[in-house]
Amino acid sequence: MSAHPAPPTRGRLRDRTVAVVGAGLAGLRAASALAAAGARVVVVEAGDRVGGKAVLDSRDGFSLDRTLQLVGYEDASLLRWARECSLSESLLPLRPVASAQLHRGRIVPCDARSLGEIARTPGVRLRDRFRLLRLPRLMDRYAPLLDPVHPERAAALDFRSVRDWADLYLGASVREHFVAPRAAAETLGDPHELSRVAFLLHWQQSRRGAGRLGIAPSGLGELADGVAATLEVRTGLRARQLKELDGGRLALECSGPEGTGADAVLEVDALVLTTPAAEAGRIAASAVTPAERDFLAAVRFGPRVALAVATERPLTGLPQLVRIPHVEGEASGCGIEAMLVEPGVPGGRAPEGSGLVTAVASQRFAELRANDPDEQVEKALLSALERLLPRVATTRRFQRLHRDPVGVPRFEVGAYNALARFQRVQQDRRALGRRLYFAGDYLSGPRFEDAVASGARAAEAVVQDLTVGQPA
Ligand SMILES: Cc1cc2nc3c(=O)[nH]c(=O)nc-3n(C[C@H](O)[C@H](O)[C@H](O)COP(=O)(O)OP(=O)(O)OC[C@H]3O[C@@H](n4cnc5c(N)ncnc54)[C@H](O)[C@@H]3O)c2cc1C
Repeated sequence: MSAHPAPPTRGRLRDRTVAVVGAGLAGLRAASALAAAGARVVVVEAGDRVGGKAVLDSRDGFSLDRTLQLVGYEDASLLRWARECSLSESLLPLRPVASAQLHRGRIVPCDARSLGEIARTPGVRLRDRFRLLRLPRLMDRYAPLLDPVHPERAAALDFRSVRDWADLYLGASVREHFVAPRAAAETLGDPHELSRVAFLLHWQQSRRGAGRLGIAPSGLGELADGVAATLEVRTGLRARQLKELDGGRLALECSGPEGTGADAVLEVDALVLTTPAAEAGRIAASAVTPAERDFLAAVRFGPRVALAVATERPLTGLPQLVRIPHVEGEASGCGIEAMLVEPGVPGGRAPEGSGLVTAVASQRFAELRANDPDEQVEKALLSALERLLPRVATTRRFQRLHRDPVGVPRFEVGAYNALARFQRVQQDRRALGRRLYFAGDYLSGPRFEDAVASGARAAEAVVQDLTVGQPA
């Protein structure tokens, strides 16, 4: 198992300029590591705010986020980053989140962290409880291949879906009531198609942290804003294409908002692209091999829909993540896959005495409703939410719908093999002197932690390549 990438040595990249495209968590993580190593770093962000999917979105003291903002207590890359930037206070202490699950129309507590707790998950049949004894043995067998920083190392396991794997080893009731709801809520994938590697990576990390989840007191957007304040970030600037110059340097052409004349060409020693895959492929078209171009064009993202609802009063005593197994959601025509219900606290994501619910719809719902107008989608999710939490109807203040056509990378069967091939080509190109790097959730995993680890990994590669021959 490799360690999470350490920060590069300070000062080693003096006189070097690096551009980072995209100010999501992967881009900001790469940029802060490179700046710490002494490079002049310019971050180019097409939007008018930083944070990408973790962008801070607030109204009247409520954080109306598009993500659930869940963080694992053992998310090493994320926690290390916050510490390095002296921004731990925007992340720590995490507010613990209790887990619950919908079962026969009722929300029941369901932590399912130990084997005994998993066996007691509502809906898991007696016969399958015994099969669960296999899980620790299976995890020990897979462990040498499961490296969250280098997920492609698990390519040898990437020939079975989560669904088939769970049916084969653990039984259908464990799949339906434990594996699938976890896979859906925490890896945001469809268990029918999701590679078992995505679930195994998630489960292994969560075993290490005893499965504890929390939320940052004021959300990850604040961390992103805090990091960006220490960097040179050019928002409203869209990277268009790059050109290779003599001596290995690169020219990045960018356009500002139309009519402002704010276009720019940045000449840099290295470039890190952290946009979604297809956009990265377009920007880098002139410098990538056909194999890289095909990989970037083939990465699939699933659309996502989230609804954040501010309530007059808290709906729970403590923050609670509610997972909705597919069978339950289908039965009630719900469409919601997971929701985070949290009471307001001073300095938190909702004012004290009020409440906040963030609901994420299933991938299937997002796909089926892709062409429906916002009002219809919002109405459908609100009425599903009111069925699950009737008090939403009487305490709702306002809500915000987020729709993201390029929501989450789909780590379907075969994705890790493709990733392994892509990473091999990266090694080749680096050895030949190309100073173009890629980072982002589609190269690592569907969580903040993965995006941050991927940004750190790219920064580490830049530092290695730009300091070849320098005394350490
Ligand atoms: C509904 C939902 C819920 C989620 N919930 C959780 C959760 O609870 N916990 C968790 O750990 N993870 C969660 N995630 C996943 C998490 O949000 C992502 O893994 C992470 O934010 C991805 O970061 P990124 O930097 O790779 O990409 P992004 O955040 O997508 O950043 C990419 C950036 O690139 C910019 N960009 C794009 N094109 C250009 C261009 N041409 N020029 C310049 N800039 C450009 C974009 O504007 C954006 O800012 C959730 C995701 C979704 C969709």
